Amino acid sequence: MEAFRTKTPNHFNLPERIERLGEVAYNLWWTWEKEAQRLFEYIDPHLWEETYHNPVKFLRQAPRARLNAVTFDKWYLEFYDRLLEQFDRYMAAEDTWFLQSYPDLRYNPIAYFSTEFGLHETLPIYAGGLGVLSGDHVKEASDLGLPFVAIGFLYTQGYFSQHITEDGWQEAHQVNLKFSDLPVLPLIDEDEKPLTVAVELPGRVVQARIWEVRVGRAPLYLLDTNVEGNSDSDRMLTARLYSSDLDLRISQEIILGVGGVRALRMLGYNPNVWHMNEGHSAFLSLERIREKVAGGRSFEEAAEETRRGNIFTTHTPVPAGNDEFPLWLMDKYFSHLWPELGLNREQFMEIAGRTLSWGETFSMPVLALRMSAISNGVSELHGQVARDMWQFLYPTKKVAEVPITHVTNGIHTGTWLARRLRELFNTYLPENWLQDMANPELWENALNIPDEELWEVRKHLKRKLVAYMRERARHQWRHDGVHPVQVVASGTLLDPYALTIGFARRFSTYKRAGLVLSDLERMLKLINQPNRPVQIIFAGKSHPADEPGKLLIQEVYRKVKQAENGGRLVFLEDYDMNIARYLVQGVDVWLNTPRRPNEASGTSGQKAALNGVLNFSILDGWWREGYNGQNGWAIGEDRAYDDPAEQDRADAESLYNTLENEIIPLYYDQRPGDKLPVKWVGMVKECLRTLAPRFSMTRMVKEYTQRLYLPVMQDTDSPVAAGK
Ligand SMILES: *Cc1c(COP(=O)(O)O)cnc(C)c1O
Repeated sequence: MEAFRTKTPNHFNLPERIERLGEVAYNLWWTWEKEAQRLFEYIDPHLWEETYHNPVKFLRQAPRARLNAVTFDKWYLEFYDRLLEQFDRYMAAEDTWFLQSYPDLRYNPIAYFSTEFGLHETLPIYAGGLGVLSGDHVKEASDLGLPFVAIGFLYTQGYFSQHITEDGWQEAHQVNLKFSDLPVLPLIDEDEKPLTVAVELPGRVVQARIWEVRVGRAPLYLLDTNVEGNSDSDRMLTARLYSSDLDLRISQEIILGVGGVRALRMLGYNPNVWHMNEGHSAFLSLERIREKVAGGRSFEEAAEETRRGNIFTTHTPVPAGNDEFPLWLMDKYFSHLWPELGLNREQFMEIAGRTLSWGETFSMPVLALRMSAISNGVSELHGQVARDMWQFLYPTKKVAEVPITHVTNGIHTGTWLARRLRELFNTYLPENWLQDMANPELWENALNIPDEELWEVRKHLKRKLVAYMRERARHQWRHDGVHPVQVVASGTLLDPYALTIGFARRFSTYKRAGLVLSDLERMLKLINQPNRPVQIIFAGKSHPADEPGKLLIQEVYRKVKQAENGGRLVFLEDYDMNIARYLVQGVDVWLNTPRRPNEASGTSGQKAALNGVLNFSILDGWWREGYNGQNGWAIGEDRAYDDPAEQDRADAESLYNTLENEIIPLYYDQRPGDKLPVKWVGMVKECLRTLAPRFSMTRMVKEYTQRLYLPVMQDTDSPVAAGK
């Protein structure tokens, strides 16, 4: 590994006394250690906002005078020394959960593959929940001290930014990212040349550069084909996420799966566990089998060894998330590989063949399931759904015996918890609460937080959200030349004291963003009661190729724009992790209305719960496990429907009734004088007590480690585990 390295650039030309800011900027540790962000913000708060909380861009632009000034600021220098000491301690820690629990396994790396990573808004290489989950997983792996390395893409254009026209139509703006402004570092060889990995595509070899993102202690390597020497079209292969063009899509997945394995080899990794986060990376199995066949194994032996080192997590029952490639496409991309594996065409296609209504396919989830020692869904209900869905692959097994388990998703505490709440927990929870986040006993102490203090922080977070939204609306008004009604629709009339409901996520039809407005007349009556105002904030993008999704945005936006709602319905453009943070911390109620059982897990409601925001959701995914009758509200019943129209009607009726008869009255049941809603705050504490530990990423990564990674690592017959 010595030959390849990243150099922490010294291009910032910082004063020597604060030189190590450059190192901090290039380690995403600052994304969850909120204090570290103040190291930059303090120097120039205005520039910090202008660079969208991006320390690399910030340091490149920071005025020399401001940088010099802080080197004479006693407070700042003490703060700097303290934070750098904390950083060094974090990076060198030997007392992590993994090293303490499994010291013998510290050199058994886990390789984690995903098409998207949501780490921070400055690095827009994620589209939604899958990416945020991957990002949170890497951060937690770092916190817990797992030997962990991740692989993904550095998309040259990132995910699009969203603009909504006056008529509610989503416009996608795509710009090239400037990598030198991002916290990513190119890997270079001894001659300081960019390190590339080669992958065969039909009639040519494509090179991909390797970039490193330092996520605390865990490296994330990102591939990018925008390399000199590649054809113009190949340079665009990794421009964007999730193309609907089949050639582009399969090429990306080959680069991720095959190129990812080769990149790790090049960097000297010999992973014991290969975790495919969703089926997009399943071609990694073919590459691993090829390596073993080249080393003299038969295909069967190679496939069995490969399988024993693999883990597969399936994330959705929705077809768009489960890639199926037609066989003509497989012929085009893989005919060179069959002989190398010692197979003929028919045998090769059989590895992951599937017959669908539209024809024969090579199925990525089938490949992943067949080639994994352990597979899992992402909630209890999703585990059942996945077993049912894939039972046809195991004809001798009953549905309940299909070998797909579940690990319910969680969220990374440091990333999603508001700073003020963290301080409150520091005061009222045992000292080690953050290290021992998943321990439910410790969270019993949430009940001891004084009502007044908890409510004060909740009110503060809502004010912060409203102020932020008004500021964005003002900016639109001044700079974007939008119509006045768009300024209202983006939140100028929001009331920081009104009951505020948030609905933000990708706009896919199964998430039914329109459900809450399906009986608009009834909703207008509910939100416009003079003494009990209610406001709803919507946000979310639709994949640019998802026409029904974009129509849904338009339907919601047109209702938001109507004068009758008095500015109490709002649509916030360009949903990303920054807006997500404001919303999951600032609203009172988090609404989620998926058409069960399509949600699989969902994680935004977990972020809300961690911040004391009450969930009001369909009993699907994680909420079906989290809801206990006292920590939020359920929409609909714990049951399945045959008729989606009947399901929509029943869910809408339940939603309106609960909102009208329970949620609004409870929120406005406020103590005379200080207006504290005592029963509401009681529910907030119950929400924290029961949900914060259980749906944390700490619980999730420990569970993956103990139930999935360790059995694979300790499968001592497996040659991959033997050479520790
Ligand atoms: C958490 C998050 C999601 C996932 O939200 P769900 O409601 O679980 O689908 C999507 N996008 C962003 C930006 C997020 O932060």
